[in-house]
Amino acid sequence: MDNYDLNEFVQDIINGRGLSDSEIKHLLSTENHKELDKLYQVSRIVRDKFTGNKVFLYSFIYFSTYCKNECSFCYYNKLNNISRYRLSTDEILRICSSFKGKQIHMVDLTMGEDPYYHNNPHLLVDIVKNVKNELDLPIMVSPGVVDNDTLENLYNSGADFLALYQETYDKDLYERIRVGQSFRDRINARKFAKKIGFCVEDGILSGIEPDIESLIKSLRGMENNNPDMVRAMTFTPQEGTPLENQRQSSSEQELKIISILRLMFPDKLIPASLDIEGIDGMVKRLNSGANVVTSIIPSNTTLEGVVNYDRDLEKRNRNVENVVSRLKTMGMEPAKQSEFNQIIGL
Ligand code: SF4
Repeated sequence: MDNYDLNEFVQDIINGRGLSDSEIKHLLSTENHKELDKLYQVSRIVRDKFTGNKVFLYSFIYFSTYCKNECSFCYYNKLNNISRYRLSTDEILRICSSFKGKQIHMVDLTMGEDPYYHNNPHLLVDIVKNVKNELDLPIMVSPGVVDNDTLENLYNSGADFLALYQETYDKDLYERIRVGQSFRDRINARKFAKKIGFCVEDGILSGIEPDIESLIKSLRGMENNNPDMVRAMTFTPQEGTPLENQRQSSSEQELKIISILRLMFPDKLIPASLDIEGIDGMVKRLNSGANVVTSIIPSNTTLEGVVNYDRDLEKRNRNVENVVSRLKTMGMEPAKQSEFNQIIGL
């Protein structure tokens, strides 16, 4: 592809050209470095057309690691014999107050499907109200699948974004990884959330699918549901889970998927998670077309991440200051809050 072709391709993508299944298949399969560099380059150009060198930063508060489910890939599945915590509201607010004045655009309140909150959803709603009062920032909630009344109450209390990952749209694979959970209820929860005004995030786990067709099914599944933010995260085997001994795929596939997502969803939010490979991994993901940094946590915290590459490290290195200073070395910078608010319709 010469420069003329490249410019034309970028313009077509911006005009809604989309990718065919065979193009996606080819991009996912290629090992040709020149071709991959071109893919990452095109994705960056497409991203820059919409958000330039601006990046959106989300802090992460995993406030309860209890869960009633048995997802086979997840460290926090109820069968795993691990120590768990549930933060009090005061503890959550103390963490929030440490974000004041920092360049954080949204707070992500995540939990497992903790029966304590699922049986008392008003307590979850109270947390959202309290965090809104404390920070007055957009709030993302990741409570798992909750009923429509709870979604409405969360939205009316100040939650702006719902993160609910399907993980896969390949039904056979779904049954193996989201054990005992309804495929349809997850989709319907996101649909309802969107209908009442939430922005929604969908995501897939990469490196666990049996073949490329399964992965394409997942990419198309996300596309059909029109999310505001789309994510791919590399499967990382977790100790004590049924998939503990499954081979881990390289993160290169995730980078390819991020670039493909950028071409499929040119103007959407696409995260570079710090949770898999820290700040060096963030750089690779932004260079593949991402425009959001997620899983920012204070350096002195013992809070959990989801994959948590730094669970056993003495010093954690994913606070907002470290993120911002690395962004600068890349010629990128945090967006203004007003720019983020505009994107999510506030
Ligand atoms: S992925 Fe979420 S719902 Fe599944 S076991 Fe883990 S915390 Fe629970």
